[in-house]
Amino acid sequence: MTATHDVVNPATEQVVATVPSATAEDTDAAIARAAAAYVGWRAVPPGDRARLLRRFAAAVDADREHLAELEVANAGHTIGNARWEAGNVRDVLDYYSGAPERLFGRQIPVSGGVDVTFKEPLGVVGIIVPWNFPMPIAVWGFAPALAAGNTVVLKPAEVTPLTALRLAELARDAGLPEDVFLVVPGKGSVVGQRLVDHPDVRKIVFTGSTDVGKAIMAGCAAQVKPVTLELGGKSANIVFADAQLERAAAAAPYAVFDNAGQDCCARSRILVQRSVFDRFLALLEPAVQGVRVEDPTRDTAEMGPLITAEHRAKVASYVPDDAPVAFRGTAPDGPGFWYPPTVLAPVDPAAAAAVDEIFGPVVVVIPFDDEAEAIRIANDSPYGLSGSIWTENVGRALRVARAVETGTLSVNSNASVRYWTPFGGAKQSGLGRELGPDALDAFTDVKNVFIATDPATEEPS
Ligand code: NAD
Repeated sequence: MTATHDVVNPATEQVVATVPSATAEDTDAAIARAAAAYVGWRAVPPGDRARLLRRFAAAVDADREHLAELEVANAGHTIGNARWEAGNVRDVLDYYSGAPERLFGRQIPVSGGVDVTFKEPLGVVGIIVPWNFPMPIAVWGFAPALAAGNTVVLKPAEVTPLTALRLAELARDAGLPEDVFLVVPGKGSVVGQRLVDHPDVRKIVFTGSTDVGKAIMAGCAAQVKPVTLELGGKSANIVFADAQLERAAAAAPYAVFDNAGQDCCARSRILVQRSVFDRFLALLEPAVQGVRVEDPTRDTAEMGPLITAEHRAKVASYVPDDAPVAFRGTAPDGPGFWYPPTVLAPVDPAAAAAVDEIFGPVVVVIPFDDEAEAIRIANDSPYGLSGSIWTENVGRALRVARAVETGTLSVNSNASVRYWTPFGGAKQSGLGRELGPDALDAFTDVKNVFIATDPATEEPS
């Protein structure tokens, strides 16, 4: 009998679907099909590959509301966020549909002939995604991978497979050739592990926890398999005394409580200059209490539930009875894995809540005295994914931006991701960059070809 997984709506605790859980043999079969399809897909003329990706984007656009509703039911995302996420799939496909016709190599001057480089696709790409943003994280891998001429086997997180399965149907409807884009739902220890171990998978893109990412990197080393890693974070939101405090405080809750804090870029450490610490907290309190935590199907919802009961228990463990809770927002009673936005202050930078990635709606507020101390606290973490700096002093903004060890930073803003700019982590937050113009390099190898035009000229070997 085939193993299955019950998909649970985290806002209602009801089972919304039952999905097969693939075995290692199923995974091998999918990899074999994707490997066979690669031969034809890489040979599709660039203009035709571009057209197929544009048609895929159009199919996603036409299905946007349905995809969004699936994500609300599967992941508990607010409908507003889920609509943005489905739109992001369309936009990333559209953006990389420009790539097949622009995968330029170079012509390098040499004597006795012509030297040119080609950007060759790699083969089958395995993409392993987490449950927190099932749609965007998947497309950040599969759009550039397909555009560069690779075929893809995508493994969604076990608890959130529904939108990935729907995207595979839309790809087929849009006319992508059979087996070019396959979605294989199942366990990480089975399907994910097989993608890492199988010699016909030529590249792994992994987004998830740092611990699993390290094991995947070690697994890929056995075959010198290239790997892109997008891992955890504990990003700092640094507020200087000369900042527009009202703006910084009004924005701070959304920078950490969006998606119920289940966001790798969550600014879960707010560092505030001591001279404005009390004033900032006074401004933050009404902003936190104003966050609408409610039924995520409502247009007004700003935060939904956590993904599972187990995850809620883990988040709650960071707020024991004697935790320094400064104030909290609200959350509905009744079924659903709800947890209220929670602010801990002041917190010692060495406390577990200030060090670990909680991945829930819990933020710590830490005072600092000067620029040097702010930078030291911000960098005192194995992570380095994102962050924000709030100041009206442009020199300080640039100095601190250069000094903070992270992959993505915003000044007077909490923006993290634009599909046309690079995204990724420093230190143990990741390896490589997704999105933007350079992501294609992660899905191609450079091949150098010399063509002799003058047989009399001997080139050095
Ligand atoms: P996870 O590491 O538990 O799982 C991620 C994926 O890996 C899932 O699909 C899982 O089934 C699979 N997996 C698990 N064990 C595996 C194994 N041994 N071999 C192969 N695959 C395996 O992470 P999660 O709990 O789903 O997601 C939360 C984490 O993801 C957080 O740490 C978060 O910061 C991180 N994240 C990072 C980014 C980023 O861009 N940097 C984005 C989103 C989430």
